[in-house]
Amino acid sequence: MVAPGKKIDCDCDTADHTEPKQCEEFLQIADIIDHITIIAKVMVGSKTINVAVGEGEQMQVFEVHRDVLTLLSGEAGTRIQDAAEPDEEELELPEIKPALFADFISWMYSGDFLQAPKIDPNTSAEHIWTMGQFLQAPSFQNFCMKTSIISDYRDEKRNWMTAASLKSVYRVTKKDSKLRKLAADLVNCLQPHREGTKTQKDSLAELRKTCSDFDADAQPSRDKKWKGKNGVFPWDLQFREDYLEEETPLDEAWERQILKNTSSRTKIRDMAKTGEVHSSLEFIHLEFMKAKRKGKGRSK
Ligand SMILES: [Zn+2]
Repeated sequence: MVAPGKKIDCDCDTADHTEPKQCEEFLQIADIIDHITIIAKVMVGSKTINVAVGEGEQMQVFEVHRDVLTLLSGEAGTRIQDAAEPDEEELELPEIKPALFADFISWMYSGDFLQAPKIDPNTSAEHIWTMGQFLQAPSFQNFCMKTSIISDYRDEKRNWMTAASLKSVYRVTKKDSKLRKLAADLVNCLQPHREGTKTQKDSLAELRKTCSDFDADAQPSRDKKWKGKNGVFPWDLQFREDYLEEETPLDEAWERQILKNTSSRTKIRDMAKTGEVHSSLEFIHLEFMKAKRKGKGRSK
């Protein structure tokens, strides 16, 4: 524990932080700024595409920038690439609910979820995270994990520790997924089956019987590190990496996308020389990445 008012040892060079929570929030804002700085450049000169999301009467069409979408979603990128027409202007994502996709669009452009009351009350953080997995968008999953899922547990402590919410997590996620790992670690750490009302205990016992995956994951003997160590919780920063997906930094992903979409570096340079804005931004970014690799990249 850190005494109040005493600066903690953290990696944020510019701020004096006294609590880990301050560091987390500071780093989240820095991530959002990095994200929107790049996305603003990717948008310039990108074509748009209509994305038909949902099925039947629920289906809704959203118009988004194609390069932004393919940069942030591997699944969307593959589907667009595999389309019969190379310049297909519509993409179908019938597997996703429009209300969830709205949050993905918000994150694509602003680096944050929609700041709006929940549009669809039947969706929860696990649905948003699972959509990120379906879209092959690990950065989105990690954003969701850090800013919504882990921090909600930390701040409310009992969040989701009911059979109903654990069941929902297990229903939408796959075996060995990071979200299941977090849920199991929280159960093993917080032991909701030992506390709480009789009804809560009974429903957790029932869940163990009906969901063998949950029963196998939630065994205190499987992971003893939470026991007996007062104040050590899965939401502590030291365990963060355990619950995050591997992601490519956005600047590297954009560099790859530029090189994939263009026949050669020389062509981009020649276009940039004409003053064409889209190519100029791409050329500047390629040069920046080259310098960064040489250890000279100091600014964006
Ligand atoms: Zn800090």
